[in-house]
Amino acid sequence: MPKFAAAARPALADTGLRRALRGTTAQLRGRAAAAAAEPADWEDLREAGRAIGEEALLNLDVHLEDLERAVTEAGGTVHWAADAAEARRVVTGLVRASEAREVLAAASLTLREIGLDGALARAGVAVQETALGDLAVRLGEDEPSHPLSPAAHRDRAGIAELFRRAMPAAGADLPDDPEALAAAARAHLRERFLRARVAVTGANFLVAETGTAVVVESEGNARMCLTLPETLICVAGIDKVVPTWDDMEVFLQLLPRASTGDRMTPYVSSWTGVTPGDGPRAFHLVLLDNGRTRALADEVGRAALRCVGCSACLNVCPVYERTGGRPYGPVHQGPIGAILTPQLRGVESAAMASLPYASTLCGACADVCPVKIDIPDVLVHLRGLVVDSRRRRPVPPPEMVLMRGLAWTMGDPRRHAAVLRRGTRWARLLSRGGRIRRLPGLLGAWTEARDLPAPPAESFRAWWDRTRA
Ligand code: SF4
Repeated sequence: MPKFAAAARPALADTGLRRALRGTTAQLRGRAAAAAAEPADWEDLREAGRAIGEEALLNLDVHLEDLERAVTEAGGTVHWAADAAEARRVVTGLVRASEAREVLAAASLTLREIGLDGALARAGVAVQETALGDLAVRLGEDEPSHPLSPAAHRDRAGIAELFRRAMPAAGADLPDDPEALAAAARAHLRERFLRARVAVTGANFLVAETGTAVVVESEGNARMCLTLPETLICVAGIDKVVPTWDDMEVFLQLLPRASTGDRMTPYVSSWTGVTPGDGPRAFHLVLLDNGRTRALADEVGRAALRCVGCSACLNVCPVYERTGGRPYGPVHQGPIGAILTPQLRGVESAAMASLPYASTLCGACADVCPVKIDIPDVLVHLRGLVVDSRRRRPVPPPEMVLMRGLAWTMGDPRRHAAVLRRGTRWARLLSRGGRIRRLPGLLGAWTEARDLPAPPAESFRAWWDRTRA
């Protein structure tokens, strides 16, 4: 994965993508703001969501044990996966055991996190996406750009073109209006729903007291996945656990209003173990750690694990609106991605270290987050961790050398004044028409996107000494 700034460059040059994203985020932003203004107790709900999330994380070990016990009692099987590789191994083994050659996938953020598609493809199993946006992304051999609207970077005409090519039954004159596209996708998927023997889903929440997986969605595709196949495999992060159904009452009010601006989500499906004669005959829950316990150990950073995946923070972020989701990596995007991904994967690599800097720290994300995650606070904390990790390197990176040089220079007034005099002379030599448009070496990163005024011939200190001494 490249550094954020490098990965964002193609998106910044793509006006079509930026126009499509601006439209999607503005619409979602407006709807969410109107929905949040409706309930008189919205701020109380947010505070309740924060408190429940915090308590659930602080006592995660107890809640996870409760969850495992309840799932097992309901006839399901719990598998623990320390990392993505172990989760892939578990799921691939279960699919192989079922002898299925095709699986349905829904609510697939966690599935993307563990790279399940590639693992199943290597095992000779095809994965069929069931959500309209995910389907469009897959047909376009593309990366998703928004968790709720994975094809937000594509316009409707482009999606219709993909559907016409992949779904001959939809007809060569398939119009590009949303209803026609949804109907074409539904017809395309129906037959697959009916023949599928295995489905793999994520989960928005896991209720510990009853061992229930809860999936919240607007299309109904995940509900079909939960209901029709013989084997249901649910892959969810350990951070998705909520203790009780009373807690769900709070999250089911917060989530739809913050994400799509709806008072209620069209489909809330909950699944508890197996029921003879009804639904899947086998239910497997794969509980994924993959860096979450490391994040949990960080008193500031663990707030990111409270995220309920509403994507409200993406829709108000000025950086995300211009770059789209891809520069943040394939899974968690926008402001929450900038704080969650480096914690899950560590800040040592250049790509991970660049994510906490992919922000203006304007604070809009914290204002809208329904569970009150102070994203700017975590960003600043992670920037500190990035600097600490660089300090520990045997060969310091160029920025560190530069900063150490600056500290040495500014640590002595005479040294500082001498360097300032020389630096001013050089800077004035580099300027054209009173502006410096290109700086050499490392400093060139600054002038890549902006210029700066040439310094005056006489510094303030020199003027002060000359006139007041
Ligand atoms: S961090 Fe908050 S606003 Fe962003 S997706 Fe998570 S819950 Fe929603």
